[in-house]
Amino acid sequence: MFDETDAWAERIEESVQGIEFSTLLVGCRVPPIMAESEEMVWSDLGLTSPETLKAQFNREVGKAFSARSGSEVDFKRPDLVAVCNPADNTVDLEINPIYIYGRYRKYERGIPQTRWHCRECHGEGCERCNFTGKMYADSVEELIGRPVIKCCDAEDLILHGAGREDIDARMIGTGRPFIMEIVHPNIRSIPLSVLEETINSTAEGRVSVTLDHISDRREVETIKSGKAHKRYSILVEVDGDFSEDDVRISLSALKGASITQRTPHRVAHRRADKERKRDVIDINLRGIEDGQYRIEVLGDAGLYIKELISGDEGRTNPNLTECIGAPAKVTALDVIMVEGVVPEKVNKFQED
Ligand SMILES: [Zn+2]
Repeated sequence: MFDETDAWAERIEESVQGIEFSTLLVGCRVPPIMAESEEMVWSDLGLTSPETLKAQFNREVGKAFSARSGSEVDFKRPDLVAVCNPADNTVDLEINPIYIYGRYRKYERGIPQTRWHCRECHGEGCERCNFTGKMYADSVEELIGRPVIKCCDAEDLILHGAGREDIDARMIGTGRPFIMEIVHPNIRSIPLSVLEETINSTAEGRVSVTLDHISDRREVETIKSGKAHKRYSILVEVDGDFSEDDVRISLSALKGASITQRTPHRVAHRRADKERKRDVIDINLRGIEDGQYRIEVLGDAGLYIKELISGDEGRTNPNLTECIGAPAKVTALDVIMVEGVVPEKVNKFQED
């Protein structure tokens, strides 16, 4: 087997043709019969800490391949993993994803963050979805994904967001942290600035991004579980005639309050019905626009803003409807700030 080290390096070289990479890790699947024989040799010779066939093979083939290709070994985050199968002299190549951390803005209402399968056909295509398989024609994920998939000759792009805004909400100001996972890229040397420009020029002002740094799987978990504060700018319609002072007094009851929220009616079909507490850190009236109140709210991650205003038929307490004594509802919602949970370089997006 070890006489064939060079032959294995050559097989790996063939399997990576046309794929861009700078680091590669060699692995192998030792057939069970070989592993058993190996253990018999160990026990026959009474070896206490023998080097395994697998470790030796991976190291020697890895060295031979590096010598041929000039590539480096990366044990933690290799671009490629070449898994050798001694049983049939084949190589399975795994192309690891590229993770990029950045922030996105969404300037248009009515776009979901990620692809959303049609409820009727679950993606198969039917009359309801006009045979697209989707509930919405586009998503932030696809607007970012299409140009990136093309640039990187990749299979897919998955967007991992630090939370998500409602479909009818805009995401402006600081933008929202996200990590794009570029799946199966054949090209991985494109500078972030070029990717960023390509996305921003193809998303036609509906979405824009700033790309910050090359990320990894672990950071995906961090941003998904992060408890970032968020700031919202909302327009609120209240039934009846109320002065700015009336509204200010009502809002002061919510400032710093701990809000008890039962899962809202509007999401009850997809989330468990439970009660939770989230804080309103700050809430202020900014002015009046066309008879509606412009209000800014700074809240804990997961605070339901629409329900904070409407009360959701008593499921959210306290709420503005109750404080002001008349039905109040959000007519437009913008997220204007999402805190970061991982270190960022310079974010070109500023709070508006
Ligand atoms: Zn459908």
